[in-house]
Amino acid sequence: MSIMVPSKTPALITPGQQALDSALHQLGHAAEHLGLDDGLRTMLATPRRSLTVSVPVRREDGRMDVVQGFRVQHNVSRGPAKGGIRFHPHTDIHEVTALAMWMTWKCALVGIPYGGAKGGVSVDPAALTTRELERLTRRYVNEILPLIGPEKDIPAPDVGTDEQTMAWIMDTYSVNAGYSVPGVVTGKPMTLGGSLGRAGATSRGVQIAALAALGRSPEGVTVAVQGFGKVGALAAQYLADVGCKVVAVSDVRGAVCAPSGLDVADLRAYSAETGSVYGYRHADALGHAELFELDVDLLVPAALEGVITEENAPRIRARLIVEGANGPTTPEADEILAASGTTVVPDILANAGGVIVSYLEWVQNMQAFSWSAAEVEMKLRDLMRSAYGEVKSLAAEKSLTLRQAAHVIGVGRVAEAHQMRGLYP
Ligand code: GLU
Repeated sequence: MSIMVPSKTPALITPGQQALDSALHQLGHAAEHLGLDDGLRTMLATPRRSLTVSVPVRREDGRMDVVQGFRVQHNVSRGPAKGGIRFHPHTDIHEVTALAMWMTWKCALVGIPYGGAKGGVSVDPAALTTRELERLTRRYVNEILPLIGPEKDIPAPDVGTDEQTMAWIMDTYSVNAGYSVPGVVTGKPMTLGGSLGRAGATSRGVQIAALAALGRSPEGVTVAVQGFGKVGALAAQYLADVGCKVVAVSDVRGAVCAPSGLDVADLRAYSAETGSVYGYRHADALGHAELFELDVDLLVPAALEGVITEENAPRIRARLIVEGANGPTTPEADEILAASGTTVVPDILANAGGVIVSYLEWVQNMQAFSWSAAEVEMKLRDLMRSAYGEVKSLAAEKSLTLRQAAHVIGVGRVAEAHQMRGLYP
């Protein structure tokens, strides 16, 4: 049996289905390259466990709303399932499945002993009060409680969730267990067993990947960053810190651009205060679509999936794309970019800094011990650089794109683990 790729009817396909379509396409290529048999391909194309829950939420006015929640464990051959929880109105089971699959390859690629998972709730967190959000989080965690645990499946932040969400998850799980279980979740506040360096870890990883891929001094390298949230804002900052010129950034509300370079620290302060980069006085306004087409050296998509498509890929002028987001580039766009000689450092490599430091946080929790910021950063750098080196040399050796090589390594390691374990019974 071959991997089923959902049919493509553009008008009917949801962003989540598009993401899953992309993930299956990438898996299909890696499986072909590795010569995996049909049974193994099918196993890797389907999640190991997939749970859909209805989450009732008491609103401030006394009404009860019911939202859909999900937790998907894609694969656990290499260790406990690991992956974030997303709160977003467009989140559906297809998107969560795709994101869980990418987590599996990501953890295998950077050599941390986890399988892949993802969770999500179809909700707009900005439309809820803090108390509603807390009730929603706690009830969602209760619904998925049988699946999670420090030895089973460890959630973390993703789009729309943060340290506070993780604190509520840790508390809800711990109250049910009857004792404190810090290792059930990563990306926690420091007071609850969070790790130094976790908050900026994904962005730090993006910086490390970008510097490795640039292969030259970052001084004066022009950068556009799409998304100014947890990943994008700090990625812009860390790139500016090493001498890059960040000329444009965007968020949900708008995009801003300053050809002579943005003062990223000032823009972060403005965005933290107003909730958006929109209206920032020391820059010109820009259209969302225009940001992708700027004549910059480096483009960092750091928001959601499917933003670089066959439609806009031909107009992308950046020679290097480093994916802070999961799944920002469709397979069709990938082909166009490869043909035009654009280097794409793929998501499962470029944004792995987050889960790497999540792993370090979990190790510290399991040992009831903590490391210095310098120690955490050194381990992060080592893991990122060695994964980058492996991907780069396989790509060169086999004439693959960096994405194809990253998937061949990630998928190959999971397949190998499965084969070594054998099939039970
Ligand atoms: N949500 C992040 C990701 O997509 C981090 C996951 C984690 O730390 O477990 O990689």
